[in-house]
Amino acid sequence: MRHDMFPLSPALWAATAAPPPPTSAIDASQRADVLVIGGGYAGLSTALHLAQRGIDVVVLEAREIGFGGSGRNGGQVIPGLKHDPDDLLRMYGPERGANLIQFAGATADLVFDLIARHDMDVPHVRQGWIQGAHTPRALAVAQQRAEQWRRQGVAARTLDSAEAASLLGTDRYLGGWLDPRAGAIQPLSYVRGLARAALAAGARLYTETPVDSLQRSGADWVATTSAGATVTATRVVMCTNAYGADLWPDLQPSIIDANTFQVATQPLSPAIRAGILPQGQVCSDTRNLLLYFRLDHQGRLLMGGRGPFREPRGPADWAHLERVMVKMYPQVAGVPYEFRWCGRVAITRDYLPHLHEPEPGLLIDIGCQGRGVGLQTAMGRAMAAYVATGDRAGLPVPVAPIQAFPLYGLRRLYVNAVVTWYRMRDGGV
Ligand SMILES: Cc1cc2nc3c(=O)[nH]c(=O)nc-3n(C[C@H](O)[C@H](O)[C@H](O)COP(=O)(O)OP(=O)(O)OC[C@H]3O[C@@H](n4cnc5c(N)ncnc54)[C@H](O)[C@@H]3O)c2cc1C
Repeated sequence: MRHDMFPLSPALWAATAAPPPPTSAIDASQRADVLVIGGGYAGLSTALHLAQRGIDVVVLEAREIGFGGSGRNGGQVIPGLKHDPDDLLRMYGPERGANLIQFAGATADLVFDLIARHDMDVPHVRQGWIQGAHTPRALAVAQQRAEQWRRQGVAARTLDSAEAASLLGTDRYLGGWLDPRAGAIQPLSYVRGLARAALAAGARLYTETPVDSLQRSGADWVATTSAGATVTATRVVMCTNAYGADLWPDLQPSIIDANTFQVATQPLSPAIRAGILPQGQVCSDTRNLLLYFRLDHQGRLLMGGRGPFREPRGPADWAHLERVMVKMYPQVAGVPYEFRWCGRVAITRDYLPHLHEPEPGLLIDIGCQGRGVGLQTAMGRAMAAYVATGDRAGLPVPVAPIQAFPLYGLRRLYVNAVVTWYRMRDGGV
């Protein structure tokens, strides 16, 4: 992956994050038990949990900690997957399905637990996630979703239109449901916190160190970095997600690396802020092309959603989100926008994270759509356990062969067609 294709936008999170731990590029070839490629939530959580088990681990990050989705996301920590619990039971059967529900249901717990346990400097709140329903049909689905989680022991609540309006501060939704397990974090501070914790546990972490190739050498793997230094390891865990799938043959066509866009206002006045998400929940909605929004810890209003497949060309690429924001919250009209940025998510065919082991000793984790904060942190812990013990039964999803999207070469056309279709179906805000 050419990393200069993805400049680090002048993003909100970089402006308000706790500083990263000091790191540098690799300057000499070395050996490790395990090499982790990618310094996002998945890679750093894998490294942390391996190092805590006493395993010698090196992490190589092409740019800086959190350069990928982990430093650009909305900071909404939402447990679960795109599929509801009953779907997972149907897809995987009673035992594996129940394990996956349990795994996915606990991802937010893990994030907040790590923040507390490692005393990370990460602004966070845990007041829950509201999924706002935009049509009567979507409201019925949201109510069923809450019911399914209640059956799993979660204190999920359905919201009628009045309660949704009072919690959201907008009457644009017909109701929805509230998942109390969820919350909000400063996402770049969190990934930097994971890096600090991994370093403290003994991991070696190099930034500005892209891996250019990965080759077998006898029982080992050798990763060659762009500066020429190599890392030799018996096991490799590849956590490059949407930002480096081309490192392994055939992996790139197994995902669609779509862009998602976000905009943030300047900090709102206390009077305006008081009327928007007054209890501190985060929100995303039931649209196919969903909108996601929250306040940050300094009182900015953030709105995220679809954008062009290509990299952005200018502020016009965010204009639709700014229009939506004002429709939803007319009181922010005239408040200047302070940050506009975007990032890529790896969409998989079944909307689930994928694990591949194309050759012995090489584990690949890819995919996650919009739940990656908790999900990829938890995937990292699960992968560390697998690498340490060899026990596949503890992995949340089966290790599967890499499968390309059909007609991958036409993905831009396909994505554009799907976006147009979904826009028509989603209707206005
Ligand atoms: C704009 C946006 C908004 C989002 N909002 C949310 C949200 O609110 N809540 C939520 O849960 N999820 C959200 N997500 C998804 C979430 O951010 C991601 O799923 C998650 O960060 C993925 O973590 P990761 O560690 O798997 O990958 P990444 O964080 O993308 O890390 C991959 C890393 O690998 C590095 N890399 C790539 N190639 C190489 C190479 N050859 N050598 C060395 N290093 C390499 C990259 O530089 C990158 O740092 C959002 C994503 C985006 C983009």
